[in-house]
Amino acid sequence: MKLLCPICGKTYDEPVQRCECGEPVEFEPFKGEPYIGKTVWERFWDFWPVEPALELSLGEGDTPLVKSRLGEELGVKLYLKNETVNPTWSFKDRGTFLALSHALRESYKAVGTVSTGNMAASVSAYASRFGLRAKILVSESASDEKLKAVSVYGGEVIRVRGDYGKLYFESLNLGERLGVYFINSDNPFRIEGYKGIAFEIAEEVSPDYVLIPTSSGGLFRGIAKGFIELHESGLIDGLPTLIAVQAEGCSPICRAFKEGKTRVERFEKPETIAKAIANPYPPSGNAVLKLLREFGWKCVTVSDDEIREAQRKLAGEGIFVQPASATGVAALRKLELPEGVKVVSILTGSGLKTLKNAPARKIRECPLEELENCLG
Ligand SMILES: *Cc1c(COP(=O)(O)O)cnc(C)c1O
Ligand SMILES: [Zn+2]
Repeated sequence: MKLLCPICGKTYDEPVQRCECGEPVEFEPFKGEPYIGKTVWERFWDFWPVEPALELSLGEGDTPLVKSRLGEELGVKLYLKNETVNPTWSFKDRGTFLALSHALRESYKAVGTVSTGNMAASVSAYASRFGLRAKILVSESASDEKLKAVSVYGGEVIRVRGDYGKLYFESLNLGERLGVYFINSDNPFRIEGYKGIAFEIAEEVSPDYVLIPTSSGGLFRGIAKGFIELHESGLIDGLPTLIAVQAEGCSPICRAFKEGKTRVERFEKPETIAKAIANPYPPSGNAVLKLLREFGWKCVTVSDDEIREAQRKLAGEGIFVQPASATGVAALRKLELPEGVKVVSILTGSGLKTLKNAPARKIRECPLEELENCLG
């Protein structure tokens, strides 16, 4: 399958990571038929640009779509796509699995990524699973605590001093020279893996809106591509309205969209509790902007207080997500959607990864002798 630049349109036969113009590349849209099968990889077998290494799957994907009560007061039907149940507790595993299937077939001995959070843990875990070495490049400021969840899988964690934004491009260049396959936030195979979220949603409901927490833009592009391929294959009647959700304190894509720009500019001094979506200079930002404009989709920002509130409400329904993953539900009340519409919010990652900021309740103390009182 050919790779295509969504911005300038140039195509490539070889598996490049980015276009010469600097923008991300993606596989040409695929049209086809699903099969009957146990996993999303099998049901949509023809839709992946590389054969998934099923024998090495850790069970990523096929996550629950949970009917929520949280839409009731707003008069909408809300569904939660619970990606927190993936093997390393975020949707990143879908993309990592497919990208590693490619790396294995191309006989790479090592893979890498630039991340401090969920993607780092995911690549570290799957590299071990696939028997490959992992080089995880993190910023100087990454805390030891966060890196434990990465290094536990055996990945080699390297703290890099210097400009974190440049690290993304530098890693691709050096990786190519040194034979390390870098699976960064918008690697084309990673994007393909994320299509599965759209496929699974469409198997259960036909949503009017899909709320997508957005940082680098990889997840948004993947879900968009999934729905577009279903539509072009005649498997769904129309496209849902996709809504990119960003934290107010780091919203370069929404800002550029609002100002009618075609290029995203660096967001200075990002500040939000939603660390997993705080990329100030998103590598797929321009590609997301193009999709938003082309399809008449939307971009919405939410404040840290709104995020905390949504996180608490979700926990009150039994699902504990990290702040970044609560942004979709936080955006719900700002959107003023028509009554009765079906909305899916993507719960991208687990709250157990960010216990420090969790909206926990006060714990009561009780001497055993007074237990009867305490229980009453
Ligand atoms: C990576 C991530 C996102 C955003 O995905 P992008 O592809 O960077 O836009 C959202 N939420 C969580 C929990 C993530 O780990
Ligand atoms: Zn290009």
